[in-house]
Amino acid sequence: MNGLLINDPEILAAMEKDGEGVFIPAKLDKEGKPVKSDNCLATLETYGRIFRYVNKKLTSMAQSLYEGDVRREPVKGGGTDACRYCDYKTVCGFEKGKPFRKNLRLDHSAAVQAITEEDEENE
Ligand code: SF4
Repeated sequence: MNGLLINDPEILAAMEKDGEGVFIPAKLDKEGKPVKSDNCLATLETYGRIFRYVNKKLTSMAQSLYEGDVRREPVKGGGTDACRYCDYKTVCGFEKGKPFRKNLRLDHSAAVQAITEEDEENE
C-alpha cells in the first residue's frame, strides 16, 4: 500500500501492529515513534489543507459543468493516458493530436507543497 498516512503513532500502530512497514509505507521505531519514509506522513493540518484543496477543485469542476463547460481535456503524459481505457472513447470524439492536459506527476512532498502554497494564498 502506498499513499499518505497521518503522522500519529497511535493510528499507525493500529494500522500495522508491529510497525515494521510491511503493509503501510511507514515504520515505527523502538519507542513507537514514526520513522519518516518516502514523505508518506502528513500532519492533521496538512490533511486539512488537502481536504480544502480537493473540496475547492470539486466545487470548481461542478460549477464549470453547471455553466455548460464540457470541454474534453484528458490527461496524458508520464505513463498516463486517460483515454486509453475510457468507456466513452467511441462516442466522445476526442481526436489524436488535440491538446490535452499534461500529467504533472508530482511526488507526495511536491504535491503537498503546491497545495500548501495555494492554501496559504487563499488565507
Ligand atoms: S476518450 Fe474522451 S471522454 Fe474518455 S478520457 Fe478521453 S477525452 Fe475524455
